[in-house]
Amino acid sequence: HAAAQPTLDELIGGVRAGHRATLARAITLVESRKPAHRARAEELLQALLPFTGNAMRVGITGVPGVGKSTAIDTLGALLIQKGRRVAVLAVDPSSSRTGGSILGDKTRMARLSVDERAFVRPSPAAGTLGGVAARTRETLLLCEAAGYDVVLVETVGVGQSETAVADMTDTFLVLMLPGAGDELQGLKKGILELADIVAVNKADGDGLTRARAAAAEYRAALQVLGAREPHWSTPVLACSGLTGDGLDILWEQVRLHQERSRQAGAFAARRRSQQIGWMWALLDERIRERIRTDAALRDEVPAISAEVAAGRLAPGLGAARIAARLGLEPT
Ligand code: GDP
Repeated sequence: HAAAQPTLDELIGGVRAGHRATLARAITLVESRKPAHRARAEELLQALLPFTGNAMRVGITGVPGVGKSTAIDTLGALLIQKGRRVAVLAVDPSSSRTGGSILGDKTRMARLSVDERAFVRPSPAAGTLGGVAARTRETLLLCEAAGYDVVLVETVGVGQSETAVADMTDTFLVLMLPGAGDELQGLKKGILELADIVAVNKADGDGLTRARAAAAEYRAALQVLGAREPHWSTPVLACSGLTGDGLDILWEQVRLHQERSRQAGAFAARRRSQQIGWMWALLDERIRERIRTDAALRDEVPAISAEVAAGRLAPGLGAARIAARLGLEPT
């Protein structure tokens, strides 16, 4: 009987009761790509919707090695001490290529992974960034329904995944390495624009002076960029995930950011526009899925793509041919 599929009511009840094994099964269900599972997942998510939305959703990014997992482990332990229930999720679009997900791996978070009050879930391994992000958003909702009141969503600071995580969280935290100077060029500027809070990590031992200097540089850079929202100017802190120094202040800034956003009405506005954005992202995903699985299109799309690539077919006409197959007549 243990292997029997739980009924939808059992899943709903188990998740709401904060039953970890049921939560894990529910997540496995939303991660499944089988159409029958998908339909059940939608039903489950719809039923749990009234019990979602109550967590502080915090995105955390930074280059590999910046100390994300160490900082999340220490911060998570601190939050648990304060009586919070912490879930850690991850968005790692490279996991399908490398054959395993690294981010959010339980073994990387020694304290949280063994703590009953924390829930650590690695990145879903499903294909595209859009797909991974969609599954993670749904997992976030399931965690909220299960009573987790802080959800930390981790991602690597390379590429598009930061935007995806910023789009599913209330506060976006960027961890930086000391020795900032060169990082400020190009690539990193985009990330500063997404950041609600910047923390220069590894501000301990020999690194302390360099971290403080880097923090000052980032502060100056942000000054030049100017505030993105009238009610909030991105603070730059120094912290150490290893020693825990500065993490209290860091969390205080997260709390303050959410409080100010709420007062300004930006918090609810951000969540509303995220909800709409998710709907469209899911629709995009669905259309692509249809293109991938439609028997006729499966043969035709590679041929159309080849013609477009070779410059023999205009991209617009290629798109029109695929759209026609989907039943979208030209307007
Ligand atoms: P991630 O790839 O961003 O998750 O980074 P990790 O948390 O795995 O840390 C990468 C390396 O940096 C490990 O060797 C850690 O021991 C070290 N590290 C992480 N946080 C700190 C910190 O706050 N201070 C110092 N000095 N080292 C750290």
